[in-house]
Amino acid sequence: MKKREVLEFAEHFYDEDQVLELEHAIDYATSYHKGQKRKSGEAYITHPLSVAHNLIDWGMDIDTVLAGVLHDTVEDTDATLDEIENLFGRDVAFLVDGVTKVSQARAGMRDLSSYLPQTKDNLSKLLIAVGQDVRVIIIKLADRLHNMSTLQHMPPDKQQKIARETLEVFAPMADRLGMGRVRMQMEELAFSYLDPKEFKHLQADMRKRLGRSTRKLGIVRTEIEHELDKHGFEFEINGRVKSIYSLYKKLKKVDGNIDDIYDLMALRIIVDSKEDCYRVLGILHGMYQPMIARIKDYIAVPKPNGYQSLHTTVITPTKQIVELQIRTHNMHDYAERGLAASFHYHEQKTTKSYTKSKRGNGGLPAELQWINQMQEVAARLRDGEDISQDQLAIDLFGNRIFVYSPKGDIYNLPEGAFPLDFAYLVHSDIGKHTYSFKVNGNIHAFDKPLSNGDVVEVVTRKLPQAKKAWLEMVMTSHAKSKLRMQLKQLGLIEGISHAAAIIRDKASRRVGTNRKSDR
Ligand code: MN
Repeated sequence: MKKREVLEFAEHFYDEDQVLELEHAIDYATSYHKGQKRKSGEAYITHPLSVAHNLIDWGMDIDTVLAGVLHDTVEDTDATLDEIENLFGRDVAFLVDGVTKVSQARAGMRDLSSYLPQTKDNLSKLLIAVGQDVRVIIIKLADRLHNMSTLQHMPPDKQQKIARETLEVFAPMADRLGMGRVRMQMEELAFSYLDPKEFKHLQADMRKRLGRSTRKLGIVRTEIEHELDKHGFEFEINGRVKSIYSLYKKLKKVDGNIDDIYDLMALRIIVDSKEDCYRVLGILHGMYQPMIARIKDYIAVPKPNGYQSLHTTVITPTKQIVELQIRTHNMHDYAERGLAASFHYHEQKTTKSYTKSKRGNGGLPAELQWINQMQEVAARLRDGEDISQDQLAIDLFGNRIFVYSPKGDIYNLPEGAFPLDFAYLVHSDIGKHTYSFKVNGNIHAFDKPLSNGDVVEVVTRKLPQAKKAWLEMVMTSHAKSKLRMQLKQLGLIEGISHAAAIIRDKASRRVGTNRKSDR
């Protein structure tokens, strides 16, 4: 990657002043990295330039792109944060600092056999960096993606470590941010290093099968195009081929029988509106016989990372099984770019809502509430609170589910969360006064985990109900710490005297009518 290429690319998306600033940052980084080389033998600056190119490609705001250019200067050269702040402003300096902190946290993990963050200290640095501004992680993803694409120049043991870390930490992080394309690129690259034999084998197997089915699929495609044209739809249709890594994962689930995998190749239909998605689904089901168990409405119930689409698998008259995915242009854009799709080029306003580190705010869509929850964990770590490694691991890397309040508000919880976790997420006062739960209209036990899509109603009583046994029926660090605090106040566990607890409880009752969120 050359300076010219990056600037010419940037000219399509940013105004003249911003491109000038970008040129300035490139010159600054070039002078500091002067003499440094990548393992490939190329000048070091090619790396930050590639990172910046990725960030422009993903549609990030100009500050993030500048920070991408500068991301290795403070760690690897004599450049200082003060200088960067003076030249490029506080936001850029803040981002560069965040990226540097994440690298330092990783450096501390170097001796560990697994690269998953193992120590609280390192992970807390990572959290603090992320909690304040998610753009830091997006820069790290751009950095990692380029490092993965030049991994062939590294010694074999390093290749393995970096590939493993990419698969275990960075790809899930990209997935969490809804950045499907980046996740897939990382997984494919990482898998090709971790298990090159299997990778090549599956690649060859896939090619063979695709060759056979492409022609048949072409017939289905033409039929669908014809039918949708007849109904006057504006649409795009294209084929999508399953990635090697997701094929590998799926094969493990179906005992290695590739014949059981129906979505090696799928047809993707992109339309203008949500209503059109459902109309198209109806038309397709009129043309072909759907496999009932495989109809998925990720529009009504999005995946925890925000992914939306209708999926259906149909059987054609010639007994061919075809997966069809239907989505709007917006849904498609989100599926590819995820959170990055929310950073509009010229709209600094939008960016601001993602950078707020105020508790309980942030203007994030429901599927990204976990970022707020991470910010809270980060704040507690900064306050010196002791949080177990397990709790952090759950909050960071666990799978998420969506549940709904009876009013339809959406809440995001880790997989395996209990109803009390929900109650405490809504408000710690509601948690404390919980008497029973109704899930989807039925009585639900305290120790039975919630599922994605559940509607959860909390039945409360006037008097506090919190008891010690509840500690076994919460999993999120948020609920645990609130509950523990309340139990102390109620004198049910050690911490403060019973008398003090009563006084404090009275005091808190007085302000307890205030139902403002305390998250
Ligand atoms: Mn780098």
